[in-house]
Amino acid sequence: MPVAGVDVGSVAAKAVIFDPQSRSLLGKAVLPTGWNAREAGEKALAAACADAGGIAASRIVGTGYGRISLPFADKVVTEITCHARGAVHLFPGTGVVLDIGGQDSKVIAIAPDGSVTNFVMNDKCAAGTGRFLDVMARVLEVKVEDLGTLGAQSTKNVSISSTCTVFAESEVISQLSLDTDKRDIINGIHHSVASRVAGLAHRVGVRDQVVMTGGVAQNTGVVKALEEELGHIIYTSPLTQYNGALGAALFAYQRYQKEQKG
Ligand code: ADP
Repeated sequence: MPVAGVDVGSVAAKAVIFDPQSRSLLGKAVLPTGWNAREAGEKALAAACADAGGIAASRIVGTGYGRISLPFADKVVTEITCHARGAVHLFPGTGVVLDIGGQDSKVIAIAPDGSVTNFVMNDKCAAGTGRFLDVMARVLEVKVEDLGTLGAQSTKNVSISSTCTVFAESEVISQLSLDTDKRDIINGIHHSVASRVAGLAHRVGVRDQVVMTGGVAQNTGVVKALEEELGHIIYTSPLTQYNGALGAALFAYQRYQKEQKG
């Protein structure tokens, strides 16, 4: 009886189909959320079921900012709890989770038993989020998925000092007009995001293992800059963007087991 987790974020809707027997994913899908969270969640779930070979999920848990709009979910769980659950599943020694998504960044402290002991969140400002990187990639006319590789080729330190996304965008435009190499600007942008998130992380305390989740963890430049800021190795998984959905699927299985026990 495979179960599903659906994470409708501000930017992307993610769904996974989890097989409790093999403890592995049978299918997954990511789609842009767009303006209709319910439709995005439904489409992501259908695509993940198709990716799993046409399997129907026995229980479904919803999470993410759009979780309240998911009529098909048996239960909803906050993304803080789901990200913690997903990270501990992938990295059992998780001490802190840095989740950088499209519209917010969160730092979640995890106890040795896997429970959440504290968290802080920046959802007031785009700086230190995926949106900041999306805006900068657009200004630089590069793909967001290429930022990591391009930033790694930087040879000169360029500081992007504005913490406000709008002002930072102007700073990037003036650097471009000075003929500064795009790769150096990108590296500066990664450090700007890292410094915002590190500030948040120090408020909850940083201890090993540090696990980064969310779509931005696919950007190797941000991960490296954060490792430098925090002085800790950061663990990421190829499933990073699905981490919240994975946590939700694990809760779906827990619910199934509870129901079986009666
Ligand atoms: P949310 O849950 O808030 O919708 P996600 O955790 O799905 O956000 O992350 C979305 C962000 O991840 C995007 O804004 C983008 O900056 C970043 N992102 C998505 N795909 C990639 C990629 N392949 N490489 C680098 N960054 C990416």
